[in-house]
Amino acid sequence: MTAEMLERILDKCIKEARILVVRLYYYDEPFLIRDMPKMVALCHKYNLPVTISSNLNVFDKYGPAILQEALETLMISVSGFTQPVYERSHKGGDIERVKANMAKVAQLRSPKTHVQVSWHHYRYNEHEMPLMRDYARKLGFAFVSYATSLLPLERAMRVWETGMDDPLGEDLLIPVGAAREACYARRHWECDGQNRVLTVNGDGLITNCNNRINRGNLRGSLFDTTVPALLKARKTDADCIGCKAIGGHIYAMQAYTRPEWSPMRLAGVFCRRLGIEGYVESLASGIYGRALLPLAERWTPKKAGR
Ligand code: SF4
Repeated sequence: MTAEMLERILDKCIKEARILVVRLYYYDEPFLIRDMPKMVALCHKYNLPVTISSNLNVFDKYGPAILQEALETLMISVSGFTQPVYERSHKGGDIERVKANMAKVAQLRSPKTHVQVSWHHYRYNEHEMPLMRDYARKLGFAFVSYATSLLPLERAMRVWETGMDDPLGEDLLIPVGAAREACYARRHWECDGQNRVLTVNGDGLITNCNNRINRGNLRGSLFDTTVPALLKARKTDADCIGCKAIGGHIYAMQAYTRPEWSPMRLAGVFCRRLGIEGYVESLASGIYGRALLPLAERWTPKKAGR
């Protein structure tokens, strides 16, 4: 995406919706995008906070300029502390380069930028988690461990439909097949992606679901519709109806790994009922992610489905 396209998108969306955050990434690597520093600055011109997620294998070309724009949140995804463990999931990546780039981030970041190391939690990498946690904390970063799912969503749906395992799902803490029942039981829960996430690509095309990447997920140009019309259309979209009927959205949001009444869910239900979605909830998300998640992790039956 170019900065010009982002400006057109923001210009339109800001008039049609209340924007809580701009996530300048999808299934790609933001630190490879030439216009990224300009795009962060542009979001700030509109007073919008920015989140970027990176595997941090590349940094030097655009990284310092991106950090100089003092983005609000930088997430760094890792899955190991040593190369043999790391490269199992991050194929072609180099964990020593990532660690060196993490040190550069610690030096260059603005105090306004919250940096979070997101640990992809698999069965095979649990023993290296404390090593990365200590390294991250030494650099002044937050550390959060996530149970992983098989995404994009169409891959998990295929496992449920055919009953055949996907080789990419073999390391998951909770196998895709074993998650099916829990997702089905929670299928009446709302889908945050459907209600609140709008994904636009570099050509200005919108996706229906932020967890799918197939061409059939595209729904035309953002500039031919409005944000409220788009969100409304999802309620009767055949893909969404089929997905919610079996709890696919629960899998996509990884809501099957959380306690039923987690602080985040409570905040979500409470805010939806009061019609104030997005205010208290995003605050709760921040507090939950940074302060309560480590506590909640201890209560979650991590070994479920093994
Ligand atoms: S209901 Fe399913 S298909 Fe629709 S946005 Fe949510 S996860 Fe995607």
